Amino acid sequence: MNEYDSEVIKSGFLQRGYLFTEQPEEADIILFNGCSVREHAEQRLWGNLEKLKRLKEKKPELIFGILGCIAQSHKGNIFKRFPFVNFVCGPRNFPEIFEHIEKLNSRTRILAIDKEERDFEDFHLTCTPDVQVGWKSRGYVLIMSGCNNFCSYCVVPYLRGREKSRKIEDILTEVRMLAGNGCREITLLGQNVNSYKNDFVKLLEEVNKIDGIEKISFTTSHPKDASEELFKAMRDLSKVDKYLHLPFQSGSNRILKLMRRGYRREGYLSLIEKLRKILPECKLSTDVIVGFPGESEEDFQQTKELMQEVKFDNAFIFKYSPRPGTAAAKIEDDVPIEVKKERNQILLELQKEIREEKC
Ligand code: SF4
Repeated sequence: MNEYDSEVIKSGFLQRGYLFTEQPEEADIILFNGCSVREHAEQRLWGNLEKLKRLKEKKPELIFGILGCIAQSHKGNIFKRFPFVNFVCGPRNFPEIFEHIEKLNSRTRILAIDKEERDFEDFHLTCTPDVQVGWKSRGYVLIMSGCNNFCSYCVVPYLRGREKSRKIEDILTEVRMLAGNGCREITLLGQNVNSYKNDFVKLLEEVNKIDGIEKISFTTSHPKDASEELFKAMRDLSKVDKYLHLPFQSGSNRILKLMRRGYRREGYLSLIEKLRKILPECKLSTDVIVGFPGESEEDFQQTKELMQEVKFDNAFIFKYSPRPGTAAAKIEDDVPIEVKKERNQILLELQKEIREEKC
């Protein structure tokens, strides 16, 4: 999602006559679009910002901006911690980014984090081939933003706001534009694409008809909203990739309830059974969190067993860390870091064995 936002921002600047460089020493404006979902990503961004600070000493007119969820999360505190930063802009304020940049100079500061929801009309990919450099064969199209699920560990609903779906016609226009520019693979993006309000299956059918597009992927799906209808569409639509990313997060019903995921282990497994009946060749990947507050050895064993049972093609395993402002952050983070690391390692090794077995 961040990559898509960065593409839109980049294309917007290119259309306004700005030039793009990957060399910080050559830049007049340096923008970081950062994720706040995991602590590790935040730490990396702060580290990179700290490293680039010296450029400001050499070139005082340089403008620094922090964008995205990390900006929404840390707000004006970013100015206190990094006084050389000029611009802080949350994801819902992205449509006004170009207007703010025009007003900025190295002595001004702008904080733009006040919008309740994103206005898709004013912030989407509009690039034409003459301004887009390095056009890729694979493109991303955002179909919705925000999330209404409020999983207890997740900051997304607080930072990206409530779920809002784009109009189907606008999405198709963007896909056609990408296809016209040589893009062959499209990934439809949303925090929970299955709850796309204008009918996700219908959207897949329409994108499937677009000439030039050869492969359609989507992410992310939520188990409580994935349906047989979706699995049948994946089977029947020739361009749709036979791959599903379906995060299960924990194999323990007790932990799933604490995570507020809205499904139980049995429900998840029966969904996988349906998928395998409808589309046996479908590849499956997942996300897992280890060390959620209160996760006992027994809870962890249930997670391990679920992985052994499903045999995912790929699994992304994360060690829990509390995110400020979430419901889970109020529960004591009582699983020691050594235990989190050990559980993480056990699941990584298990997944490696499963992958080797499948090859
Ligand atoms: S579904 Fe849950 S984990 Fe995914 S973005 Fe929404 S709140 Fe976060």
